Amino acid sequence: MKFELIEYNKNTPDSELIADVISVSKITGKDTVTMSDYSKHGKYHPSTLTRRFKSWFTVLEKAELNPARSLFDIEDELLFKNLAAVWIKLGRQPGHRDMKAPLSKHGGNTYIRHFGTWMDALRKFIEYENTDFSEEEEIQKEEIIITTDDKIEEPKKIEKDTRSISLRLRFSVFLRDGFRCTACGKSPVTHPGVELHCDHIAPWSKGGKTNIDNLKTLCSQCNLGKGNMTETK
Ligand SMILES: [Zn+2]
Repeated sequence: MKFELIEYNKNTPDSELIADVISVSKITGKDTVTMSDYSKHGKYHPSTLTRRFKSWFTVLEKAELNPARSLFDIEDELLFKNLAAVWIKLGRQPGHRDMKAPLSKHGGNTYIRHFGTWMDALRKFIEYENTDFSEEEEIQKEEIIITTDDKIEEPKKIEKDTRSISLRLRFSVFLRDGFRCTACGKSPVTHPGVELHCDHIAPWSKGGKTNIDNLKTLCSQCNLGKGNMTETK
């Protein structure tokens, strides 16, 4: 979570940070360390390292570890995605008893087994939500560069230009808007069954970007038939 003071580990030498990542790979017995592994076993917060070295990929490179396929474990990520979907459907933070079919694909006990307690699962989920999107995308791009070229190039920041909105980005937009339609104010909490959509403010077809500043929460009714009309208010 993002409460660490920026100055806090300023004087820790690079070598010490990298040595700590290597020691985590020894604990887990893997040839790579995900951010999720690191936040479990490491001495520092993963963002201390991504700030220092610009990306998690560079951290792994310096530690001479394999670039991770994912910043988080695959099972973590599946559980987070399901948790986000349930949270959106409820319009509020779920309790572990909410985690059951048909609302949830995974039961509350699965989360408790995997993360320790339900609160730990929520904490990890928030950490996952707080991870910089562009950073993750950057790593994916970097992976493509390595696999096709067989050598490591300078990380390139490529702005994602796509209409589709990832579940994580949608979740952030809903969270910012309080899980409420920005037009009529309906929320799944006050109006069970209301479905929330994430809508481009400046239409994507007219050059509007898919980023948090150009997205807003609408209920399916308010979103219906809106087409490409430009926001006027
Ligand atoms: Zn509405």
